[in-house]
Amino acid sequence: MSDSFVVEKTSILAKYLQLDQRGSIIAEYIWIDGTGSIRSKGRTLKKRITSIDELPEWNFDGSSTNQALGHDSDVYLKPVAFYPDPFRRGDNIIVLAECWNNDGTPNKFNHRHEAEKIFNAHKKSEIWFGLEQEYTLLDQYDNIYAWPKGGYPAPQGPYYCGVGCGKVYARDVIEAHYRACLYSGITLSGINAEVMPSQWEFQVGPCTGIKMGDELWVARYILERVAEEFGVKITLHPKPLKGDWNGAGCHTNVSTVEMRKPGGMKYIEDAISKLSTRHDAHIKLYGTDNDLRLTGRHETASISQFSSGVANRGASIRIPRSVSKEGYGYFEDRRPASNIDPYLVTGIMCETVCGAVEGADMVKEFERESN
Ligand code: ADP
Ligand code: MN
Ligand code: MN
Ligand code: MN
Repeated sequence: MSDSFVVEKTSILAKYLQLDQRGSIIAEYIWIDGTGSIRSKGRTLKKRITSIDELPEWNFDGSSTNQALGHDSDVYLKPVAFYPDPFRRGDNIIVLAECWNNDGTPNKFNHRHEAEKIFNAHKKSEIWFGLEQEYTLLDQYDNIYAWPKGGYPAPQGPYYCGVGCGKVYARDVIEAHYRACLYSGITLSGINAEVMPSQWEFQVGPCTGIKMGDELWVARYILERVAEEFGVKITLHPKPLKGDWNGAGCHTNVSTVEMRKPGGMKYIEDAISKLSTRHDAHIKLYGTDNDLRLTGRHETASISQFSSGVANRGASIRIPRSVSKEGYGYFEDRRPASNIDPYLVTGIMCETVCGAVEGADMVKEFERESN
């Protein structure tokens, strides 16, 4: 591993991981902070957990995570899902938590709560998502991982799904992440190396409703933890490098129960027509700095214009060729950036495709962040 900055001696740690925990388990609570990063802290519980209501609420100092002011700094962690912990193993778990304020309102960055209202109102639509998380590896100096010092690798071409020395970097990190996600029960459907060297993608899905955001956040957490051990940084910036290098997105694949049945194309077309009337609203929620990525080049559509097409990777919405042939299936929204909050994106998608829900509004929900 050239240029890696390994600070953890995991081989020494290995023998401690085998020690008997004497009936206690460790629950690592994870949450989303005020900058779109993940935070976590661990606690001991006296018994194995078999259902979500056995997990205690907890809290943290929100003034240290951009989530609260110093004079009223307690933010509450409400467990919403738990997963086997691939790092500690055994009965130890990762606990995904929503953030709540002292006054009983959801924290500004808790977009899960609003999205869940929309999914609950549209249970009958059985909305499925598949997210393609693209990301880029950096070394400790924030240079693109394993690129020549002070220079550039050969232009894009051999790297996408690349095989062989000089065409693909850090397969070890990616493989470790894949295995760890499967261990935790994440619906990881695949991985591939991307167009820019040291850029990768993993796909999570199909997942129903709120589970999509949950699983993507946990898969991101696992990626950060694995990369931490390898001494590699992860960036979700949508355009880590200006110039003739692809940006990073989070393509959002969508279907409802009607779209998945023969004749479903009618519903797919209907959804696309609804999406065409809300382009600006969606773009708002589709990630920061996405304007640097959605230029109309490098397999993207322009940020200012909605478009759609069969097998068209330069359109906002693509209908896969196979779906068009069969006449049913799903569609792909190619606009979301790699740094999205998946709760915002899946939430507004359900709102637009399945219909507005009284008492919920994803654009307003997003705007709470800046209030
Ligand atoms: P691409 O050809 O755009 O690179 P990928 O194979 O990377 O596509 O990702 C496709 C994603 O779509 C996967 O996450 C997969 O689980 C998801 N998917 C497949 N079928 C459906 C469906 N019916 N509804 C929603 N998502 C789906
Ligand atoms: Mn893909
Ligand atoms: Mn991709
Ligand atoms: Mn795609």
